[in-house]
Amino acid sequence: MKAEHYVGGAFRSDGSAFPLVDPVTGTESGAVPEATREIVDEAVRAGRAALDGEWGAATTEERAAALRRIADGIQARFEEFVDAEVADTGKPRALAETVDIPRAIGNFRAYADLLYGRPERAYTTAVPGWSGGTGQALNYTVRRPLGVVAIISPWNLPLLLLTWKVAPALAAGNAVIAKPSEETPSTATLLASVMHEAGLPAGAFNLVHGHGAGAAGEFLTGHEGVDAIAFTGESATGAAIMRNAADHVTPLSFELGGKNPALVFADADLEAAVDGTVRSSFTHSGQICLCTERVYVQRAVFEEFVAALAEKTRTLTGYGPMISAGHRDKVLSYYRLAADEGATVVTGGGVPVFGDERDAGFYVEPTVLTGLPETARTVREEIFGPVCHVAPFDTEEEAVRLANDSPYGLASTVWTRDLSRAHRVAPRIETGIVWVNCWNLRDLRTPFGGVKASGIGREGGEYSLDFFSEPVNVCIQI
Ligand code: NAD
Repeated sequence: MKAEHYVGGAFRSDGSAFPLVDPVTGTESGAVPEATREIVDEAVRAGRAALDGEWGAATTEERAAALRRIADGIQARFEEFVDAEVADTGKPRALAETVDIPRAIGNFRAYADLLYGRPERAYTTAVPGWSGGTGQALNYTVRRPLGVVAIISPWNLPLLLLTWKVAPALAAGNAVIAKPSEETPSTATLLASVMHEAGLPAGAFNLVHGHGAGAAGEFLTGHEGVDAIAFTGESATGAAIMRNAADHVTPLSFELGGKNPALVFADADLEAAVDGTVRSSFTHSGQICLCTERVYVQRAVFEEFVAALAEKTRTLTGYGPMISAGHRDKVLSYYRLAADEGATVVTGGGVPVFGDERDAGFYVEPTVLTGLPETARTVREEIFGPVCHVAPFDTEEEAVRLANDSPYGLASTVWTRDLSRAHRVAPRIETGIVWVNCWNLRDLRTPFGGVKASGIGREGGEYSLDFFSEPVNVCIQI
């Protein structure tokens, strides 16, 4: 499909373009327009005009109805969205059908529903207050949108992660300029056409394509007309955006990288822990920010766990490629580094051979490693591929210490049948999310985000609406 910008209610693809590459076959599959600074400027102006016009005047009810029309519009073109997501990412079709596209629809429905739990100008409180000796005053608080917000998203769950921010941003009454990853422009373009068909006022949602550094991403995040930035991607990119946004003190919401630990205690249901770790390490070929890359197993069951994990990993079929040749090379460089650092490669470690067109694609083998010290770069740095390192531990105290010994703090998983242990350990792990005996079980109202280098702020339910709006106190002297 053809990627296009969507600015001020109109589609366009003028200017230069760069090739889109199919990660399954390594061949060119399309062209993506590269937004210039002028196009980004136009998008910012269009967003501002929408806020000064019809979109800014829309009521809660109208905004909620718009979100529902968008959800219905994606639903009506479900197969088209699945095709586009599979074509851009190479991910298994079943994953796009059960996770990416349904969750995108769910994101719009969830925020349409939430708007009714949160009345217009929410958090309004009317209290005759203390006024510093000058008489009684009535204070109340209104929430207003931040304005024109830039939303920058990665390639791993393109539509899911984009809509996870677009839905609450629109729900709260902002105008949006979305910039999806340059690797995955297609479902964002389809989303723009759904917005158009849904009759969203021109300029409420704008889409610009292009690269990050020195291009559309940087133009947006340094733009003085952008009132807030919501970003999902690498921690190093977050740092670059922060520097770029500093001049205008632009508010930021960051969902960044991870090096997520799983703790498997000897009292765990071992079969469930093995199955769960295969899922948490290898879903989408490890290209989910929540994927497990560090597994710590209590020594009594270490050998048994590693053998079962390797066995199960060897049977994986139908997995997708890395997103690009560059990312494949990065993951393979970590496979080589692990060997240089002295790892035992229990299974995987190379490139699979299929004997078909996929051999020219960007595949790597699901890989299980053991034997590395905690100081190894392979254990400390985010690889973002289908690989985990498994290490033994002896005590609960040591398990918590190992889990926390990381610059990252996004998500963790604890496998145990001891309820007290689960409650003891979970709050001590320095991650934004702790799953017990499960992985990636999500309720969209719960806080989602990371600590340390994994992010700033929380998304989900009210948390997103809080970021995308600002409380303003009104004080009236009586
Ligand atoms: P990335 O940081 O390379 O790119 C993400 C987006 O930022 C892209 O749209 C890119 O064009 C843009 N960008 C790049 N440099 C920029 C700059 N200087 N200024 C403005 N924009 C810029 O990340 P990626 O490779 O697309 O995605 C993988 C990373 O995302 C991993 O680190 C992963 O852990 C993280 N991630 C985090 C979450 C989360 O919720 N915490 C979810 C998914 C992915």
